[in-house]
Amino acid sequence: YDLRNEDMKELQELGQGNGGSVKKVEHTPTGKIMAKKIVFIDAKPSVRKQILRELQIMHDCHCDYIVSFYGAFLSDPTICICMEFMDKGSFDGIYKRIGAIDIEVVGRVALAVLEGLTYLYDMHRIIHRDIKPSNILCNSSGQIKICDFGVSGELINSIADTFVGTSTYMSPERIQGAQYTVKSDVWSLGISLIELALGRFPFSEDDTSDSDLSDLEDLEGTLSPQRPGSLLGIPLPPARKKDKSGGTSKKDKRKSKGVSLQGGGMTMSILELLQHIVNEPAPRLVPEGRFHKDAEEFVDNCLIKDPDGRQTPKDLLNHPWIVQSRNSSIDLEVWTSTF
Ligand code: ADP
Ligand code: MG
Repeated sequence: YDLRNEDMKELQELGQGNGGSVKKVEHTPTGKIMAKKIVFIDAKPSVRKQILRELQIMHDCHCDYIVSFYGAFLSDPTICICMEFMDKGSFDGIYKRIGAIDIEVVGRVALAVLEGLTYLYDMHRIIHRDIKPSNILCNSSGQIKICDFGVSGELINSIADTFVGTSTYMSPERIQGAQYTVKSDVWSLGISLIELALGRFPFSEDDTSDSDLSDLEDLEGTLSPQRPGSLLGIPLPPARKKDKSGGTSKKDKRKSKGVSLQGGGMTMSILELLQHIVNEPAPRLVPEGRFHKDAEEFVDNCLIKDPDGRQTPKDLLNHPWIVQSRNSSIDLEVWTSTF
């Protein structure tokens, strides 16, 4: 496709995310339906062209578990990335619509993500860097594919420069400023799988440890975890023990400043959450025994806090739960027709 903005007829807004939005469009010369991601980039023309060049690698990514790339172009002051439209949307939207996802389907999600990650790394030495339910998409043929991987170093830098935000799917080592590796994606997968299987974000109500962040108030809203260095180089304060009585007013104060994170009735500041991820035991599929042992163990493996002890996506493809999911007779095309 030779893509130009004038040829894109906007049909529907699909969603908004960090630093951009995604629209369902029709490429009028061909009638092809696409998803057009619009990313605002505040950078010099040379940098913008460099990003566009780097994005071309996506033309070489051909894998059943990766959303297809149709092309990208500059449209001042944005960069548009056109990709395969996935008509059932992303898994965050799906579980919010239909509730907790059946564990057999979650197994297929795990398989698809591991296959996609293994392909990206083995064939292109690409690390995804942003695995989360909103970047795992589904279509009515029952296919599951990942999108929004970090192909362009310049794009990653530019978004980190212009956009202020944080990812709560980040591994403990990333929060502490270590280099990204494929194992960081495995952690994010583990968090995402729990979220889908439970139908809620795994860090919630009862297992939050409140802590005194008063000396860090000024940092709130300036976290830019895409960069190396933990929280702009300032080490996280040690977590305190649970303090149910004194925690409420502090939380409310932060809530009013608008830097809180909501999910399933929970409110926790980003800093509290990042601190929690680093200092507390990793979340698990709960309650114990509700899910098959193999599923529990797989998720536990993804969420080993020390990256040295955590397996790579390729290793995990051999895990019994994944082998089982591959052989399972569940028909995802039928499943997608239920919502
Ligand atoms: P985020 O992934 O942080 O939610 P994005 O800007 O990447 O933010 O995407 C916004 C939303 O658009 C996603 O949550 C997803 O539901 C939807 N979306 C993204 N890409 C596609 C696609 N290729 N097909 C269908 N929907 C998509
Ligand atoms: Mg996305």
